[in-house]
Amino acid sequence: MKSFSFPLQVSSKTEELCSKASELRDRGKGRVLSYSPKVFIPLTRLCRDFCSYCTFRVSPRTADRLYMTPEEVLAVARAGEAHGCTEALFVLGERPEERYPEARQWLKERGFESTHEYLYEMCRLILEETSLFPHSNPGTLTRNELVALKKVNVSLGLMLESTSRKLLETGGAHEHAPSKRPEVRLKTLELAGAFRIPFTTGILVGIGESEEDRIESLQAIRSLHERYGHIQEVIIQNFRAKPHTRMDGADEASVEEFLQTVAWARIILGAEMNVQVPPNLADPDAGYLIYLRAGINDWGGISPVTIDYVNPEAPWPHLDELRRSVEAQGFKLRPRFPVYPAYFMDTPDFLPWALVQKLRSQADSSGYPASAVHA
Ligand code: SF4
Repeated sequence: MKSFSFPLQVSSKTEELCSKASELRDRGKGRVLSYSPKVFIPLTRLCRDFCSYCTFRVSPRTADRLYMTPEEVLAVARAGEAHGCTEALFVLGERPEERYPEARQWLKERGFESTHEYLYEMCRLILEETSLFPHSNPGTLTRNELVALKKVNVSLGLMLESTSRKLLETGGAHEHAPSKRPEVRLKTLELAGAFRIPFTTGILVGIGESEEDRIESLQAIRSLHERYGHIQEVIIQNFRAKPHTRMDGADEASVEEFLQTVAWARIILGAEMNVQVPPNLADPDAGYLIYLRAGINDWGGISPVTIDYVNPEAPWPHLDELRRSVEAQGFKLRPRFPVYPAYFMDTPDFLPWALVQKLRSQADSSGYPASAVHA
């Protein structure tokens, strides 16, 4: 087994945190790095909120289309199927019909009262017509919305982003984004736990929060997971300042600061948690392999078919390149479903039985996809 050293000079604090974090990862996860082969389905890029760093949202005036049609959704999913993908990742803005009459009209003409109703139908369509499994990130959710979406999603996601209230103040990243209030997001996470929904969450690093805020956010996630056992993975994502946003030119977290946060995530969340960092947002000089030193065990969704619509300027690494790189560091790369095996192999009560059956029919004996992904 190969070891490797940092390609950059780091402080002894970082070395220490990283060494503890990788030891925990090795203990809980071994030297296996998973990823979810996915297609990215941006169902609508309209949104009622305005986050200062966002390049995803568009308005009806600038949008190519208000919503993807069922035919467009199916075409993307079928392209993913042909490449052996397992995940249909639905990404969409927060309740656009509350801000835009055009969105309300589009939905009404097709018999839907809300974006969530339309999302439900599109997830159902994917399940019925393709071999893929939906995982949706529709923003904050009510009880009824969670209960409905649970029927047609193997897992749901909502980034906590941060528990810092400072970000909501004038000039803060979330000044004009009421759905980013930490209490609202924590409420969704808690309800998801109460309804036994495998859930993905995470923090966004470098949007104006402090190191204490990051640690507090990770502790909040840990305490929800201790209570409900439903947090299946935690994403640690670094903010990248993008042109044409209000945070263009804002300071990003340094590579070292980010590494420390990833290591803190592993230390706070423990050996068994799935800790994920997206490889496509890595600093180009430092590269993504340094995250292995900070205790991660997952790369998140990687698509051989679609771009990352949230970060369109940052392509995912090619799967062959990713495999070669991690193998050279003594790790194995393993495709997974958008829900981890523990939630459908070991426990009978998280997913509806129809979803468990469909997952098991495509899984090997350990709960990972039985067939190969084509890059
Ligand atoms: S809620 Fe999401 S889509 Fe809406 S502005 Fe914020 S980051 Fe963009």
